[in-house]
Amino acid sequence: MALIVHKYGGTSMGSTERIKNVAKRVAKWHDAGYQMVVVPSAMSGETNRLIALAREIMPQPDQRELDLIASTGEQVSIGLLSMALQALGKQAVAYAGWQVPIRTDSAFTKARIQSIDDAKIKADLAAGKIVIIAGFQGVDENNNITTLGRGGSDTSAVAVAAAVKADECLIYTDVDGVYTTDPRVVSEARRLKKITFEEMLEMASLGSKVLQIRSVEFAGNYKVPTRVLSSLTDPMMSLEEETKSGTLISFEEDNHMEQAVISGIAFSRDEAKITVLGVPDRPGIAFQILGAIAEANIEVDMIIQNQSVDGKTDFTFTVPRGDYARSMDILNNTVKQQIGATSIVGDTQVSKVSVVGVGMRSHVGIAAKMFKTLFDEGINIQMISTSEIKISVLINEKYMELAVRALHKAFGLENV
Ligand code: ADP
Ligand code: ASP
Ligand code: MG
Repeated sequence: MALIVHKYGGTSMGSTERIKNVAKRVAKWHDAGYQMVVVPSAMSGETNRLIALAREIMPQPDQRELDLIASTGEQVSIGLLSMALQALGKQAVAYAGWQVPIRTDSAFTKARIQSIDDAKIKADLAAGKIVIIAGFQGVDENNNITTLGRGGSDTSAVAVAAAVKADECLIYTDVDGVYTTDPRVVSEARRLKKITFEEMLEMASLGSKVLQIRSVEFAGNYKVPTRVLSSLTDPMMSLEEETKSGTLISFEEDNHMEQAVISGIAFSRDEAKITVLGVPDRPGIAFQILGAIAEANIEVDMIIQNQSVDGKTDFTFTVPRGDYARSMDILNNTVKQQIGATSIVGDTQVSKVSVVGVGMRSHVGIAAKMFKTLFDEGINIQMISTSEIKISVLINEKYMELAVRALHKAFGLENV
């Protein structure tokens, strides 16, 4: 009997009416003979509300207690969904992360899943029950409740699917698939029927929040067939139609030559740029600057070191905007004196825009086309970084949406 994992996001679980619809959809799959595991998120807005409550008490909340609070949104939704299924005459059982258990490390607010015990899940499925597991949460070796970072229910679902060796993981959300770019920013964005796993990984890591990046990593590492589709359709639509809808994350790069060279455009507003001015041009400087940042567990993204003319150079890099103040403190308080830099300047009004596509491997001139498009719009490029299948630029945040729309048009994505 095929085993399917469904994941429902916040909007999909947003009201008791919506939860009843989720129950109808899950019951329909169960009636058709599938074994079902369901991973819901908290009701929309709930996790934000809980975190805001914590911050009212403590502006920089204790991370352990914050996770204890933030994880409760999912506990409510699993209970409600289980009841909604029972009301439809189904046998359903809901588990919090610690009850499964879903084991994680102890990195509160961004914990990583280490293992999932499938014993209870398998026994319940064998007994004909629908199993509901809270997304976003786990438990560490000391029985502390942890959360997996914002958007983490995607990762819970794909990790559960990998653990139980599900035939497919269906991620139900408020859009009907993965689009060429965020449809909230570009109304001409088109749904992709398929996206390669590598492209999805780049899109997620470059800021497309439709899937949490770690969920894509799990899908790739364990080859979990994963599809993104809408929960806002008629829950009783035919299974045949439903299984063909949405966007499939594929592990093959078949016939991409015929597809558009660029599959999508991702963007991230939450960037900050830091420049260390007048650093001596000698071995070890990059290490001294970035080593100190890494030690504080801050992720560095783009990096540029200028050519030196007089033995001195400038060193520029980007960090997530939320880590900007901390990075500046570290540099000003210790690193500046150690390396003898002249000064440190920063800019928090920058955004990153990236074009992504496996077709880049077999086509030249993509970077030139991207830069010309931005030039035509009068947008200045501050930094550039590339990989085999993506080109990213850092620009003033004021022009981010303009850049995304112009690139979407220039690469013909509205005709995909
Ligand atoms: P959920 O609560 O179901 O997890 P999210 O809000 O996390 O939903 O993710 C869905 C949202 O992701 C969409 O509403 C859309 O605005 C946004 N999004 C960003 N980039 C894309 C993209 N390339 N394709 C589709 N949606 C995208
Ligand atoms: N409820 C969590 C969040 O808002 C997890 C999720 O929705 O995936 O980030
Ligand atoms: Mg999400």
